[in-house]
Amino acid sequence: MRLGIDLDMTLVDFNPVYQEAFDYYGMEYEKPKTWGMFDYPRFIRKRIFKSFSNSKIMCSLHPYDDSHPFINHMRHLGHQVIIITARDPKMNNEHFINSLFQVDDIIVTQPGKSKQKILKEKAIDIWIDDCPDQVIETYQSGIETIMIQNNDTLYNQHINHIPRINRLSDLLVNIPELVN
Ligand SMILES: [Mg+2]
Repeated sequence: MRLGIDLDMTLVDFNPVYQEAFDYYGMEYEKPKTWGMFDYPRFIRKRIFKSFSNSKIMCSLHPYDDSHPFINHMRHLGHQVIIITARDPKMNNEHFINSLFQVDDIIVTQPGKSKQKILKEKAIDIWIDDCPDQVIETYQSGIETIMIQNNDTLYNQHINHIPRINRLSDLLVNIPELVN
């Protein structure tokens, strides 16, 4: 099985990127409630968009506790794990991801663009992601899709027709066909 997986807020905690902007302005941090951060003041959004091109910030994020165990378990079972992330291509994303995870392939796509074409090209069987637009598009295309939905992803709470998990470790318990 070819397992495609998103990076930010799926394998690594992305909150520090948002939080940096709130800290900069001496404001109390609030998690984004919309995918485009439209609930944030304009100056906060501007600061965050600037961070997207700041490799010091973007390459200092930490994996969730269960990210390594999940990837290692999937690969141990013979599945291929492919990380597909939308990030500023000018940064050394591959080096950062390679320093965190041992996977079969890493693909960096253009931020703000659909990953659908690359999912088809890479013949992804299962896609795991937190992005509301992407999970809807992938699900509708017929690729098996699993959405990360938890207290950090307030922007996708309205989606309830797509298989959802709270965290990656849930998959090891709830979707046995994936791990067998
Ligand atoms: Mg994400």
